[in-house]
Order: sequence, then structure tokens, then C-alpha cells
Amino acid sequence: MATKYVYSFGGGKADGNESMKNLLGGKGANLAEMSGNKELRLPVPAGFTITTEVCTYYYKKRKTYPRGLREQLQKAVEKVEKLMGRKFGEPQNPLLVSVRSGARRSMPGMMETVLNIGLTEKTIPGLVKQSGGNARFVYDAYRRLIMMYSDVVMEKAAGIEPKDDQGIRKQLEKIMQRIKNEKGYKSDTDLTVDDLKELCTLFKAKIKEVLKKDFPDEPDAQLWGGIGAVFASWKGKRAISYRRIEGIPDEWGTAVSVQTMVFGNMGNDSATGVAFSRNPGNGENKFYGEYLVNAQGEDVVAGIRTPAPINAYSTSEHNKNLITLEKLMPHLYKELVGYRNRLEKHYRDMQDIEFTIEKDRLFMLQCRVGKRNGPAAVRIAMDMLKEKLIKKEEAIMRVTCGQLDELLHPVVDPKVEISKKVLAKGLPAGPGGACGQIVFNASDAVEWKKQGKKVILVREETNPEDVEGMRAAEAILTARGGMTSHAALVARGWGKCCIVGCASLHIDYTRKELHVNDKVFKEGDWITLNGTKGNVYEGQLPMMDVSEENKILNDFLKLCDSVKKLGIRTNADTPDDAKKARQFSAEGIGLFRTEHMFYGKGSDEPLFLLRKMIISKTEAERKKALDELFPYVKKDIKGTLEAMDGFPVVIRLLDPPLHEFVPRDPAKLEQLGRDLNITLDELSRRAEDLHESNPMMGHRGVRLGVTYPEVSAMQIRAVFEAAAELIRVGKKPYPEIMIPVVCDVKELTDQFDIAKQVYAEVLKKYNLKNIKHHLGTMIEIPRASIVADKLARVAAFFSFGTNDLTQMGFGFSRDDIGAFLPDYIKKGILPEDPFQSIDQEGIGELIKIGIQRGRKTNRNLEVGICGEHGGDPRSVEFCHNVGMNYVSCSPFRVPIAKLAAAQAVLKNKANE
Ligand code: PEP
Ligand code: MG
Repeated sequence: MATKYVYSFGGGKADGNESMKNLLGGKGANLAEMSGNKELRLPVPAGFTITTEVCTYYYKKRKTYPRGLREQLQKAVEKVEKLMGRKFGEPQNPLLVSVRSGARRSMPGMMETVLNIGLTEKTIPGLVKQSGGNARFVYDAYRRLIMMYSDVVMEKAAGIEPKDDQGIRKQLEKIMQRIKNEKGYKSDTDLTVDDLKELCTLFKAKIKEVLKKDFPDEPDAQLWGGIGAVFASWKGKRAISYRRIEGIPDEWGTAVSVQTMVFGNMGNDSATGVAFSRNPGNGENKFYGEYLVNAQGEDVVAGIRTPAPINAYSTSEHNKNLITLEKLMPHLYKELVGYRNRLEKHYRDMQDIEFTIEKDRLFMLQCRVGKRNGPAAVRIAMDMLKEKLIKKEEAIMRVTCGQLDELLHPVVDPKVEISKKVLAKGLPAGPGGACGQIVFNASDAVEWKKQGKKVILVREETNPEDVEGMRAAEAILTARGGMTSHAALVARGWGKCCIVGCASLHIDYTRKELHVNDKVFKEGDWITLNGTKGNVYEGQLPMMDVSEENKILNDFLKLCDSVKKLGIRTNADTPDDAKKARQFSAEGIGLFRTEHMFYGKGSDEPLFLLRKMIISKTEAERKKALDELFPYVKKDIKGTLEAMDGFPVVIRLLDPPLHEFVPRDPAKLEQLGRDLNITLDELSRRAEDLHESNPMMGHRGVRLGVTYPEVSAMQIRAVFEAAAELIRVGKKPYPEIMIPVVCDVKELTDQFDIAKQVYAEVLKKYNLKNIKHHLGTMIEIPRASIVADKLARVAAFFSFGTNDLTQMGFGFSRDDIGAFLPDYIKKGILPEDPFQSIDQEGIGELIKIGIQRGRKTNRNLEVGICGEHGGDPRSVEFCHNVGMNYVSCSPFRVPIAKLAAAQAVLKNKANE
């Protein structure tokens, strides 16, 4: 049997179907499915698809076509003519077609299209008749054809490469502009029929002059010219480079779909519209869309006329006075609803539909899975599950982590944001949106907030002393810093909007001015931040809040819980945070940073005692200060263990270099001297002694505990005594004591020896046999991963501190990366910020090595992650794949981590 090169569709039938993408291309296969599938049988304008095999042949055989193609094509044209009741090239009643490309995978805008093929001087009267005497419409279509055809077929496909501005399309556009200028017209729509007629003549003459060929005013020549041009565009420069980037093989070739043109602009019994099978803005199971009478598809998109609602449900403030399609053309609306129902049943997802009504006849031009916002995505998934259209696994895969995030924070109203110019761009450290008045220091932020104002704290960078101001602000914006800098960490912990590393900001603290490019903002000026994108805007943009208590969201998360394997814990630093973590149904705390009790509300007394300890000269002095500090530490830890009753709480021993706790401000330093009863000179000298050139790699983490064992002992005692007291009142505390910044097993044994001794003492004191607990380590130095087998012999758990592991693995300072990261991304040196999403190639290997070696010597080793990556969806998937037991992230990211963890399981199943 002869090879079939041409596949027809239309009239409720099709030779092909959706599964034939390789042969018919994505578009051809979808058109076949829409018109031929028994469940659908949509009124798709009839047409046919020439297979990708013809494209392959065309290139193999020096741009010729296989034998039999012409005959098959002729038959296919005849079928279309029959279905549409028109004839190709027939002067009285012509059929017009479009010719489009379509590869297996969509290559948007990379190949060519020619519309209105079959329109010639001879067929013009026929189309005028079809359009009910609308000559302007017909001549406009004709001049568009001449422009498109000469550009795509006669120039590009012929391999002519004119210089910039010399292309035929540009030259024709110049003629059109000249006529418009001469007549004083503003827009193309001002051109009259006579103008358009004149233009067509001028165009043809110009084409002859420039390309030395006549525009083919003959339907067959146009059709074959169009087909050849689409095949030629497969090897066009744009298409080739797109394929290189996307990894699409050259051998695939493109199919060509030839389809009847239908016009929604043929009069008042014609229309065109777009609709969604459910509301894409909130997910309600209601048909939603808009349309325009006597218009073309691009008129709906262009926004020149206000489209009308298709039904009462789609009515809004700006279109409420326009008549609905349901009222204007009830029979066609009913027909459209029928197709909507069929489409949902068949595709089992919300569909985006394009339709055209030509002279009282409805045509479906396209359907595809509809785009939707976060609330709609969750609602549609849960509704379709209830309607038994989809299964649990599908519902989980239908929502992206980005969509879920939209439900968790107020956001800048996207409809308004799209029209605003971005003032500056930084790193998206804390998601959501916020607007407020600029303040330049933390105490002003607190003061202004007291006065009931909304403020945005703008700083070069933040440090722990700013914490109260950060709390008071709606959002935080810094010029320096990276995704794990202080501001970013703190803001994310609170679910607060934050942008860091915004390098184009220049802050003049003395004049209280912010300079951005050539603009100057003063204290009190309004700005708006989109912390999800890292965009800063001038002025006040409206917000949308969909983050309230949401039953559908909770049900969706329960679904995720039933599938995921990873445990989801949170990073929480205070008893209040711990309570919030339980509200977010976290399954434990993966990181309790002890040092946070020295910042923020109620920290004055413990911070003073810590400073006293730091400044002390002798061990005796230090021990005294530690004894005084002890009850505060114990209280915080007890509150946290109690809030998380029964769930594990990883308590990390003091980590930051001690100088961080000594005030920088001279007035505060002086006050401290007075309180401690030592001279400013003496205090300054001691503070100076703490100075380090590279504090991040200096005297911090376990190194503090090695130098000052009594500091570790105090904290460990606080943990065990807090637990013992809770046990006495019937609670089930479960502390896991974690040592930070470890690089060698001997550091661990040094600290664990202290822990064991304190443990024995506490058991005795409280007359207890046992306190459930674990001793473990962070892995945040590359060497720790390498010697993980040795560490795991003594540690019960590992927690990957990927903030420091990334910092030390790359040698990129986590606080200074903002200065050069944009250049690294722009030049393609880094694909993205490694502090945001785990660098799987490098840091990920260190993690894998750490887990493998650790589990080799300790099969029961519990492994988690507590770096900021624990809330990043791609990193969560990675953590699942490398076999971690849990991830820990800020409370506000728990829902996202749950979804990412559930999706990781399902993706693996799909790949099996
Ligand atoms: C880490 O390094 O990943 C970590 C969690 O510790 P911190 O951010 O407190 O240094
Ligand atoms: Mg760390």
C-alpha cells in the first residue's frame, strides 16, 4: 500500500489522533483528536495534516516531494471542500485556508504560518459575498496575505537575507505608513476600502521591483508556496538555534497543517471568543469566558474593544452592561456548553477554549489545558477528585509549589503589577508582597509602627540588633546579602516579605535618602515589594490576600501527607515559633537555634548575662555568669519541648562567633561598661580581642565548646533538666542535641563526653532512669561529609546545614554573594543561586557521600537537612531521592515542603 502522507480531519471524523504526535506534530494530532474522537467530535474547521515524513523526505531528496503527495493532497482538499460547502479557487464561493507548522514538541514562534491562502483578485468577489458585502474586511485580508506571503514564502523561504530594515515586509510597512501619514490616519483601522485597494496594487509592484517576481495571484501556487515555506522554516536560523537549546533532534521534521479559515468578523452574526471550562481565577466549577461580536481572535487579545461576558457568571464591573452570548445567541451558547462538558470529561482537566462563530455557525479552533492561579489550582484538583474525574495522585500533581505558595501569603495584585515598571531587582528572600513607607533604621520602624504606620525597613544589610525593627516592618529590603544572609533567614522564619542583595540601591543614612538609578526616595515615601520575584516598585500597589484559613487547602495537604515519605519538620527558635510549627502540623523541630533567645522581645536580661559571660576574664567569672544565664536558657528550651510534646526537637548548641553579641554602637558599648562595672577602655580592649578576620571560619560552633566546655555543659544541662521536669509532669519531651560546625570526630567525642556526664548528673538529680534523647551533629563543612563514616560511629543523627555547606563548598560568602551573583547568572556561569536551591552537581555530591558513608557505619543513622534549602521544592525532591528521613524549613514553608515531598514520591513511581 502506498504510504499515507496526508491525514484529514473535520466533520466529526479524523484519520489521526492524539497519540500520533510523531507523525502529525503536536498541533496536527490535537486537531485530529478534537474532531475525530468519539467523545469529542468538535466542530473543528476541516483541514488536513501533511506528515513529518514528508519533511524528512523533502530534506533528503533536495527539496522535492514524494510521489503520490499531490494526489493525496488533492483528495484531501476535495474532502474539505465538501465539508465546508466551498471550493478552493472558486470565484463565487471560495475556500480559504491557513498553513501552519507543527513539530512533535511545540516550538512557539520559531516556524512560519501563512493565513488567508486562496484569496486572489478572482476570488475576492466571492469572499465579499460570503461576508455579506463587507469589502473592507476582504481587502484588509488580502493586503495581509500579500505582506505575509511575500515575507515568509518569497523572501525567507527563498533564502534571501536582506540587511536590517531592507526586508520586504519592512518595505511594505513603509508604504502603508506613508499612506497613513498622507491621509492623516492614526490607526490601521482608519484605512478605507479604496486605500486598501490602492495599497494592494502598490504592494504588488514593490514585490516585483525588489524580489523580481510576481506575487502569485493563483490559489494552487499560494498553497504549495505556503507548504514549502513551512518546511523551509524547519531549517531557519531561529528554529535551528531553538532546537539546540531545547535538545530537539533535527531529524524529527515538522508537519504542516492546512485548515479552513473561519472569520468571526463577517458581520453581526459572527463572533469570536475565549473561554475556560472552570473559573481560572478561583477554580469554581462554572463556565467562564468572554467574546466579541464581529471581531477576529486578535481583537479579543488586543484590548481595543471591551469583550462581553459569555454568561451572567462571567460578568464583571467593566462589562456588566454588555449583552451575554447566552442571551444574544442562545442556541450557539448551548452548543458551546455541550462542548465544554465533553472537553472536561475527555481531558479530565480545566480547558482553555478558543471559538469562532462565522455566520451563525460555531467552530472550535483550539483547546488546551488552561492556566490558573494558586487558589484555582487547589480547588480544581480537589473538586475533580470529588467528582471522580481524577485520582488522588493526579490531584497532587495538578498543583505546583509556586501555586501553593500563592495561598500562603498576601501578594501584589498581579493585574496591576503587570502594568508597572520595576524600580529595582534583588534576590527573592521572603515570598509574598507588601507595601509601606520607607524607614532607614530599626528604631524608627518600631516607632512608626506604634503610630499605626506601615513601614518597609530599608538597610544596607541587617544584623541581629535590627531584629525588633524587622519585626515591626511590613517587609525588609537590603542592598547587600544573599539568600541565607541574616535578613533573609529571619524574614523567612516569620513568613515576612523580604528582598536582599538589591545592588542598585544606594542608601545615605545621614540624609535618610534612598537613591535608585537617578531617583531619590526620602523617609516616608511609599514603595511596594514583590518578595516572590524580588521586584521593587515605586508607590503603593494593591494587595490580594487569599491566605486565610482554608479548608480546601487543609484537605489538599492531608492528601499530600498520605503519599509523602519524608518527614517535615520546621526550624523554630522560640516557644512561640514551636507552637506555630505545630499549627502548621510540623512533625518536629529540625533546628532550634539557641542564640535567637538573645535577640528580640524579652531578651534584655539574658543578652546582658551572655555579654557578661563573653567579657569575663577568668573561668570563675565565666561560670558565675553562666549560672545566672542558665534559668533563662532552660525556660526557653522547656517551653519549646513542651509545645512539641512527643515530637523530636533538635537543639543546637551556641553557634555564632561571640563578637556578634557585643554591641557595635559606641553609646550602647558605654552603657554596657557601666552595667558591668568596667571602664570603656577595658571593655573596648576585650571586645577588640574578639575581633577576627574571617569570623564565619573563626571561633564559632563546636570550637566555642572546645575552648569553653562550661558553655556547652550549661546548655546541655538546660536541655536535660527541662526534659526531666517535663517528664515529671507526664509529658514526653524528645530533645536531640546537635553540635554545629564539626569537621572531625574528636570534636564530637569531646562534646559528647560532656553531654554524657551532665546526663548522668541530671538523671541522678531527678531520680530518673532515662530521658529519651539523641546526640548528633551538623554536617556543614565538606570535610565532615568525607569523614562521615567516623562521625556516624558516635552520632545518632546528621543534619545537613546546607547554608554553611554551600558557603564552604563553593567558597562563596553567604552574606556577600549578592554583589556578584547577578553577573554569574547573566553570564551563565551559575544556573541559579546555590543558596536557594541545592547545587546537586557539587554540594549534592557531598551530601550523598555523607549519607552513604554515615549509614555504612551506622545503619540507624537519622538524616535530615536544616539549611534554608529544606523549603525549596527542588531541593526537597533531592532530599527524598538521596534517602533523607526529614527536611526542616521555616513554618510557612511546611505546606510547600509537603507537596514537594509527595510529588517526589509520585515522580519516582512514574519513572519506574
Ligand atoms: C546551615 O549552615 O545550614 C545552618 C542551618 O546553620 P546557620 O544557618 O545557622 O549557620
Ligand atoms: Mg550553619
